[in-house]
Amino acid sequence: MSAVLTYIGLGANLDEPVLQLQQAVAALKNIAATELVAVSSLYGSKPMGPQDQPDYVNAVAALRTSLSPLQLLDALQKIELEQGRQRKDERWGPRTLDLDILLFGEQTLNSERLTVPHYGMKSREFVLYPLAEIAADLVLPDGDHLQALLAKVPLNGLTVLAPAPQ
Ligand code: ATP
Ligand code: CA
Ligand code: CA
Ligand code: CA
Repeated sequence: MSAVLTYIGLGANLDEPVLQLQQAVAALKNIAATELVAVSSLYGSKPMGPQDQPDYVNAVAALRTSLSPLQLLDALQKIELEQGRQRKDERWGPRTLDLDILLFGEQTLNSERLTVPHYGMKSREFVLYPLAEIAADLVLPDGDHLQALLAKVPLNGLTVLAPAPQ
């Protein structure tokens, strides 16, 4: 068994988003062959794309898993559906739960279903700041240091809303 450290971005802006993220963290703990290592605080952030939707609640979790990347994506998408995620045509529209694989060890993957590292992570304040809370010294597979990325990405109104779910 070779377990890999992976980072998951969590987001929600519908139906009690704080509770959605707390429930999602509980669900992450139940993924087979996977252990929850750390979770950030819950952050409030401004929506990307369409502005006619509620603010988001975001967090980042670290998992250690023996699943393959696609097995992990399956498990995450199952949790999204269990928490009422409805896929609509609108890009970046409102949702009860979004779970993105940000990093999967040092791996770089490009398939139709899965791009890792997540293509948007380097420019999203609601990913970088929560990630820094649980992995301050992180270096990305391309050699970029998290602290250098943070210095380039403003908070854009990001606030700490609540402590990390237990
Ligand atoms: P964004 O990807 O810009 O954050 P989004 O999270 O709203 O937007 P979704 O509709 O949740 O996008 O996902 C669309 C598809 O992205 C998923 O069906 C999945 O197959 C694919 N995908 C590609 N790379 C990843 C990744 N690293 N983590 C999660 N899904 C991914
Ligand atoms: Ca809209
Ligand atoms: Ca996303
Ligand atoms: Ca997603």
